[in-house]
Amino acid sequence: MKKTILHTLLLAGAMLPAWSFAGFGDNNRKLSDDKKHKKEDTTQTINTTVAYDDVDSLLMFPSHDLYGAWDTVACHPNLFEQQFAGDSAVVYLLDDENCGFTMPTKGIITSEFGWRHRRPHYGTDIALHIGDTVGAAFDGKVRIARYIGGYGNVIIVRHNNGLETVYAHLSKILVQPGDNVTNGMTIGLGGNTGRSFGSHLHFEIRYLGKAIDTEDLVDYEKQELKNTSFVLYKSDFGAKYDLRSIHAHQIASKSHAAPVYKNAGGTHLVFVKKGDTLEKIARRNHTTIAALCKKNGISKNKVLRLGQKLKV
Ligand SMILES: [Zn+2]
Repeated sequence: MKKTILHTLLLAGAMLPAWSFAGFGDNNRKLSDDKKHKKEDTTQTINTTVAYDDVDSLLMFPSHDLYGAWDTVACHPNLFEQQFAGDSAVVYLLDDENCGFTMPTKGIITSEFGWRHRRPHYGTDIALHIGDTVGAAFDGKVRIARYIGGYGNVIIVRHNNGLETVYAHLSKILVQPGDNVTNGMTIGLGGNTGRSFGSHLHFEIRYLGKAIDTEDLVDYEKQELKNTSFVLYKSDFGAKYDLRSIHAHQIASKSHAAPVYKNAGGTHLVFVKKGDTLEKIARRNHTTIAALCKKNGISKNKVLRLGQKLKV
């Protein structure tokens, strides 16, 4: 056991730039300044016998042997290729170590994981009111808690089970990086900050920086996990969860079936094929009937002609 811990520590230490600890140190109220210095030294000297105090410190990072680094700067450090060993990995969602799961908020889904409005949507949107409490899904430690571009006020928590969860568009953040949280503990208040149109929680589940469809793990109707464990297949990250490459493939296969032309203004033109309806055209082009009608100045009951050009 001792050897394993030491090996892990040295491995992690070898991979960590000195600044990796900075954010943690700033927010870790349990470490004295002396201990902080000792810990930083281990990042530079690989073959050092490590005092137990330092091992204990490192064990305070959730899933430290999976991630090997604690980054309080990058939202989603790209560790997948480097750290995903083998073809699959089992994530134990509920066990003695990981304690339990709580829905971050209890609203209905308003938007799913998938391609949306010409961009990938890596989370699940859940309806809430501004000011509703948002809780941590699992036990863990807050890695990021600040305002970031499209996310607005966002909290990213790393869990003991290897997952990270993301809570975005919050009106208020109630935790700081380095804070330990338990499942169900209120970490923020729901809001409408960042790229958000109407109050909701944008909830993501990630593994080594890569997003997973939360509905593969969570049953939103029953408000509970689907299983106590979850198997992640490396191949799913190339096919099922890689929204950009899925979209690129769809575009490529679509270009064989129905030609899409681009005019000088950047608007796409499509031609109505046999059997087409506004609904089919909207779905094929990742838009809505309402948007199609507006762009083309037609009503939703418009009878389409074969070969007719439509702007999408
Ligand atoms: Zn969203």
